[in-house]
Amino acid sequence: MEFEPVIGIEVHAQLKTRTKLFCGCSTNSGEKRNSNVCPVCLGMPGALPVLNKKAVEYAVRAGLALNCTVKELSVFSRKNYFYPDLPKGYQISQFDLPVCENGSITIDVDNRKKTIGIQRIHMEEDAGKLIHQGSASIAGADYSLVDLNRACVPLIEIVSEPDIRSAREARVYVEALKLILQHTGVCDGNLEEGSLRADVNISIRPLGQEKLGTRAEVKNLNSFRSLERAATVEIERQKALIISGGKVVQQTRNWDDASQKTTALRSKEEAHDYRYFQEPDLIPLRLPVAMIREIKNSMPELPVKKMERYKADLGLNDFNSYQILVDCDMNRYFEECLLIKEDIEPSEICKWILGDLNALVKDGNSSFSECKVTPEKLITLVKLIKSGKISGKIAKEVIKKMYETGADPENIVKESGVEQISDTDMLQAAVDKVLAANPDVVLKIKAGKTNSANFLMGQVMRETRGQAQPDLVRKLILDTVNKG
Ligand SMILES: [Zn+2]
Repeated sequence: MEFEPVIGIEVHAQLKTRTKLFCGCSTNSGEKRNSNVCPVCLGMPGALPVLNKKAVEYAVRAGLALNCTVKELSVFSRKNYFYPDLPKGYQISQFDLPVCENGSITIDVDNRKKTIGIQRIHMEEDAGKLIHQGSASIAGADYSLVDLNRACVPLIEIVSEPDIRSAREARVYVEALKLILQHTGVCDGNLEEGSLRADVNISIRPLGQEKLGTRAEVKNLNSFRSLERAATVEIERQKALIISGGKVVQQTRNWDDASQKTTALRSKEEAHDYRYFQEPDLIPLRLPVAMIREIKNSMPELPVKKMERYKADLGLNDFNSYQILVDCDMNRYFEECLLIKEDIEPSEICKWILGDLNALVKDGNSSFSECKVTPEKLITLVKLIKSGKISGKIAKEVIKKMYETGADPENIVKESGVEQISDTDMLQAAVDKVLAANPDVVLKIKAGKTNSANFLMGQVMRETRGQAQPDLVRKLILDTVNKG
């Protein structure tokens, strides 16, 4: 029997606000434990929540970017459950009236277009963080510490329709979401650090069957690789289970990267287990049409549109037009270069950014926004190559020095004397010397094997410590041989 996987994904994205969803505490992570807290996010009795306007704006922005209908009226609800990282005993979330509904995005899965529906986007607060001592989980721990800095940090949950049909599609979908959220400035999209978290709901059914199978939810996916791998493994587990006569149980499963397995965490709860009811401390959220329109008008260019522009207007290829988008910092840098590029080809700029500069930034554990090679300096460097002042090979050395010192490429070239030699008399001397030392190669060229000139070019380059202008050297070699 053939089976078909049916996958739906819930993505939790942390909004990039400076303060929390219902209080003025900072959202800065990495600060001293329990330092960014107040009576509201500690859940003290009588403390009242006040909604963060910026968080609402970001949720709307995400909704518009994902082609959703933004609701003029939405409502916050209490989701009741107990866990030690949730001091109030409930999470403020949205239930039957979320802020955005009915969206979709079209993804490109290995050159095949596929549209994935977005059921809803709702706003909610995050819980705190538990640090277990003596065990990886709360069950075996000697004791657990509670850090509430993360409590009440604003999240949106983006719920897809069960439109995804393979582990590969699941990965591409979350990658596309990440790119959209980053480029709209809504979330920094870091899976490893947990500012973006994906829970993958998987079921399988016999191919051709309408009815959905029982699903399992897989959690703890902190890289795109582990997401794709976990989905693959879970699909195979369910298939094997059904083929051997067993039944899939509705449950939440944990992905373990070390063993490459999913293991049962708990039986999956139903919505009614949470006893949702409307949050009495917050009035319903009414969004003026003018506000929604204003956010729509101020939307930045979406990654798909950007990629099309790079291909159509700038002549970048598929691969490069995507790669130059993946890192937002790098993309901003590229856009700045485009503003001042004059007659330099965008593909040439792109090549230097994705190649040498990216390698330097990565090796230095730095970022493009902190890079000492400013867009102006990179453009100057590319101009030096274009004008023939330095060779591409020398430029690789120059950019290293620029990265380390922040110096101007023209000064580096002047000081280190690496300027390309385009003085014919000087080069002719080197050419004559090399020809005299290689009479056999000269004979080959005379016999019509012009490719042999490459060997002599290499020798001349060595003579001139790589500073000779290659085209000129080639011309001089061929002219001299033919004259002689
Ligand atoms: Zn607070």
